[in-house]
Amino acid sequence: MEIENIVANTVYIKARESGGQKKGKSKKWKNYLQFPHYTECLPLKTEIDVTYAFVVEKQPIGKLLFHEFCQATNSQYRQCCQFLTKVEEYETSDDDGQSRRELATAIAALLHSKPEDNPSGSQDEQEFWCSFLPDEVISTCIAAADSATHDDEPRSDIFSEPYRLARQFLTDAPFKEFVESMYFHRFLQWKWLEKRPVDKHTFRLYRVLGKGGFGEVCACQVRASGKMYALKKLEKKRVKKRHAETLSLNEKQILQRINSPFVVSLAYAYETKDALCLVLTLMNGGDLKFHLYNLMPGGFDEKRVQFYAAEITLGLQHLHSERILYRDLKPENILLDDFGHVRISDLGLAVEIKDNEPIKGRVGTVGYMAPEIVKNERYSYGVDWWGVGCLIYEMIEGKAPFRQRKEKVKREEVERRVREDQEKYSEKFSEAARTLCRGLLHKEPGFRLGCRRVGRPEDGAEEIRAHPFFNTADVGTSREPVPWKKMEAGKVTPPFLPRPSCSLRERCFGY
Ligand code: ADP
Ligand code: MG
Ligand code: MG
Repeated sequence: MEIENIVANTVYIKARESGGQKKGKSKKWKNYLQFPHYTECLPLKTEIDVTYAFVVEKQPIGKLLFHEFCQATNSQYRQCCQFLTKVEEYETSDDDGQSRRELATAIAALLHSKPEDNPSGSQDEQEFWCSFLPDEVISTCIAAADSATHDDEPRSDIFSEPYRLARQFLTDAPFKEFVESMYFHRFLQWKWLEKRPVDKHTFRLYRVLGKGGFGEVCACQVRASGKMYALKKLEKKRVKKRHAETLSLNEKQILQRINSPFVVSLAYAYETKDALCLVLTLMNGGDLKFHLYNLMPGGFDEKRVQFYAAEITLGLQHLHSERILYRDLKPENILLDDFGHVRISDLGLAVEIKDNEPIKGRVGTVGYMAPEIVKNERYSYGVDWWGVGCLIYEMIEGKAPFRQRKEKVKREEVERRVREDQEKYSEKFSEAARTLCRGLLHKEPGFRLGCRRVGRPEDGAEEIRAHPFFNTADVGTSREPVPWKKMEAGKVTPPFLPRPSCSLRERCFGY
């Protein structure tokens, strides 16, 4: 191993360890994080979506500031927020856990706290915080909470009605007052910092993580904050040579719109003389191809397959809800983070579907392209569900459905198999896994699982999420139903923890 390599790795590991801590920050760059006077930021108000749904529910800083505002304003707002937070916790907590029963008790206590219960309260404590809730909603809820504390597996949805009403309450007067307050000004200041142009001086660069078609991907760190990212370079020369200008711009524009814990996010983008640079969520755990073929040849167990498939389905659901078709599902494009969660990465082939019109274009990777793409027909969201079928098949079987690994076979032959051959299921597949793959790998998109519901594009994912593979326990495998809400909240513990720095090793020692 070359000496530069060792040095680069050591420096990188150090940076990662201090990631976000004091060490990574530099004094000179600290000033960079200083807020401008709020009046300078006010014009931003017209550029952003000033709604509760965006500011409080999509923007973590907005949520924090709104809660601080409520806390400081009056006890009604404060308790209302508390209620929402507790219900969210409840809904994403362990289905059968003690914690869920305790939360139900705490939530019921909040609903009980009528004025007569605390006569010593101050003037504004006298107002019953949830007076906007009809009496019968409160009593139904308290009764449900009461029985939940005795149930073995309390249901997750018993507070959904008061939750909806409390949220509605906050979106009205409280949110309007918030927008006029200094808390919102602080929010605008954050947005201002976020929107400020970044350039190569904003980052320290570290070692190479991987090679892409248009340039390297390396680890980087924001000087001012110490936070680590992956920096993907699209070198202009190479982009030009392959006439891919629109493609690479496309990748950036699509990434910009996406905000899901299951898709790599774009934190910043900037341009240098030679390259377009995308600063992305750092995914250190290696890709699924590496895990599948180098660490677990022969396939993953179904519990692990189910976990990855579920997170990928949620990622695709988000993309589809934004009318984005991904078109490049395969193991090497699914990356693991340090904890073992996965994200869809490499949106270079993604495309927007306009007005629900099917599109054309033979793109993708041989062996993973859906039959309708191979046949050069028009296609839509169904090609991604085909891709999920290929991926699940490959994770279970340890080989792709239409091509042996390293098999010397012509493109035409693989495409013939995709069009005509029925994929084979070994004894590695459970009944549920087999029906899922067969449904997803239906040659005819109109009959394919995920394509049979007509409605919003994101409804396709619901059909897949409802499949028994995700919702039944299975004797003989360790599979259990997926707790979807908890998973969407990122609170499911991954079944497999990547070895620390596993992705470093693979590069140092070659694979
Ligand atoms: P291309 O579009 O040219 O295929 P990719 O986006 O797939 O480029 O990136 C190339 C390689 O860089 C990947 O195979 C992976 O090893 C590494 N890589 C890409 N994105 C990340 C990331 N967010 N975190 C860590 N490594 C990454
Ligand atoms: Mg790639
Ligand atoms: Mg790409």
